[in-house]
Amino acid sequence: MNNFNNSKMNVDALFLGPKSENAVFFKEMMEYSVTEHMHWRSSYHPEDPDHITTVDRYAPEYRDTLYRTEGILNQLSSKLKSTSVPWFSPRYMGHMNADTLMVSNLAYVMAMMYNPNNCAQESSPTTTVLEIEAGLDLCNMFGYSVNQSWGHITSGGTVANYEGLWVARNLKSLPIAIAQHEKSQHLLIGKSEKELLNLPVAAVLELIDELKKLNTFEEVRELTARGTGVSLHTLGKLLVPQSKHYSWMKAMDILGLGQQNIVQLPVDTSYRTDVQKMRETVFSLIEQGEPILAVVAVVGTTETGAIDDVKAVIDLRRECEEQYGVSFYVHVDAAYAGYACAMFRDEDNQFIEYDALIHRYHQEGIFPQDVIWPKLDVYESFKALNQADSITVDPHKVGFIPYGAGAICMKDKRIVDLISYHAAYVFEDVQEKHHKLDKQHNVILGSSIMEGSKAGATAAAVWAAHRLVPLNLLGYGKVLAAGITTANWMIEKINQCKAFNIDGRKFTIFAMPDPDFHMINFMFRELGNPSLEKQNRLNKRLYELCSYAAGRTYSNDFLTSSTSLTYEEYGDNPLNLCRDANFTDSEWHNVQSVYVLRAAVMTHCLRDKQHFENYWGALIATFEEKLQQLVDEENKINHSNYKLASN
Ligand SMILES: *Cc1c(COP(=O)(O)O)cnc(C)c1O
Repeated sequence: MNNFNNSKMNVDALFLGPKSENAVFFKEMMEYSVTEHMHWRSSYHPEDPDHITTVDRYAPEYRDTLYRTEGILNQLSSKLKSTSVPWFSPRYMGHMNADTLMVSNLAYVMAMMYNPNNCAQESSPTTTVLEIEAGLDLCNMFGYSVNQSWGHITSGGTVANYEGLWVARNLKSLPIAIAQHEKSQHLLIGKSEKELLNLPVAAVLELIDELKKLNTFEEVRELTARGTGVSLHTLGKLLVPQSKHYSWMKAMDILGLGQQNIVQLPVDTSYRTDVQKMRETVFSLIEQGEPILAVVAVVGTTETGAIDDVKAVIDLRRECEEQYGVSFYVHVDAAYAGYACAMFRDEDNQFIEYDALIHRYHQEGIFPQDVIWPKLDVYESFKALNQADSITVDPHKVGFIPYGAGAICMKDKRIVDLISYHAAYVFEDVQEKHHKLDKQHNVILGSSIMEGSKAGATAAAVWAAHRLVPLNLLGYGKVLAAGITTANWMIEKINQCKAFNIDGRKFTIFAMPDPDFHMINFMFRELGNPSLEKQNRLNKRLYELCSYAAGRTYSNDFLTSSTSLTYEEYGDNPLNLCRDANFTDSEWHNVQSVYVLRAAVMTHCLRDKQHFENYWGALIATFEEKLQQLVDEENKINHSNYKLASN
């Protein structure tokens, strides 16, 4: 799908730029989009009369309406300029945001003017096709078979996760439904309820085919969880890492599966799911006879960017099938780091061998010599993605596409029939037709996905990005490598940085070493302070001074985000961080929470070492100012306390 010769792609030419350096081109293309659309209107049935005449336009209320339109836009613009977050600038390093691709912004605006609704193809003859293509691009990147798989755009990762669980729920209940259906039950004759709840995903998909042959699929489908509800049977536990995004709690609630049925898997010292403990949890559930609905692996956790061992989950499932006749659905939540799968693929979409990959990175200048990425286990994790049943990925995060663009990819498109409100056969047929881009057909996405009406403009934005920036190491690979490189350099600088001396108080700064992706967690530390509580207050205040909370987003010198690494979410793993920072173990055990500054380093602007050095020099000065401000505040408080006391 991505058979472009892209070796000449220039990363700086992809974005408007922090100083709007590509302003002339961007304006030209924006004007082109608008002009084309206006021509499209005026050329439509030229024989039709104009609706508005010159005389109409001079009417006082007519002119007044236009003035007011302008006035409202003035207001909006000034609101946006004064309080929006300058994501385009490398001074912003916080949430998973950066500048967005010019091509996507333009494609969005261009398509938006036609106002396509991707709920049904009759309302979006162009952009429904683009959505299917963009979905297949992502399936292709993950290594799913293009003829077998299916992907589409969602409003974000949250809804993609809902949909993954929705499919898993209905799939888990299908064998039970078959066993209750007179004309179909012979397909599963002699199976116990336990066996019915533990069929491998592939076996259930085969059953769908069998049911279709019997012409009973639609009847049986109404006996699954979607028809009878989930209360009659326990479909089992959802295993998600402690580090999960909270969308999983919402998903269990909304789908009626119950948050009580979440089993949280502990993480290890690298903040990934602890594989050993995952195995123990799974085996103990098997022992108790408790079915497992699904296991979720996270590729790029929201707080530390940790990449779970997907291969271990896949291997564990195989082991369970072979040893115990137990199986479960596997979903990967790669909302954050999913696009990084592009970094492992060559121009022919082949997954590159590890040594050859590192060699190409350095040979082609994708990474500088001093940055080695990825770790071998991270590499293996991405390689195993094609064995997951479904994957969530967010184009609006590391795809550099404007909101709201999430996506879900499913390994086997037959699974969609379990959530679809189509007559079952139509759908398969439809995708075939899509491959041929048959625009005559009316695809109703809205009846096979979570959402209904939705912007076709989003599909245009994602599609356009994938055409310009291929999903391989020379396309997205180059863009992502810029952020990963900068993150690596940042950590190195932070950990080498000498102490700040502020009014006789000494502060150091240090970062959690060795992240899996480009999320860095760092904190300031006052030397000689034994209290973790005080330390947390210090970093919380620094966050406030470096965020919109300071009330001057636009004029602020540096903007970041923050999080608390708590016992509840991470067990005692943050203890290592506390020890590195010279806190006693008992401080951690008492406070059970470490407040850190958190930055997804996505900027493409600092991939040149010299630029980075300059940036770092300025950032150090900013940090010093922020610390000074904080110390001044504390002095003021102490001073007024003193005055109160002496009164
Ligand atoms: C961001 C994120 C989500 C939620 O995605 P939205 O696009 O915000 O709905 C889910 N899981 C992970 C791991 C995420 O990072």
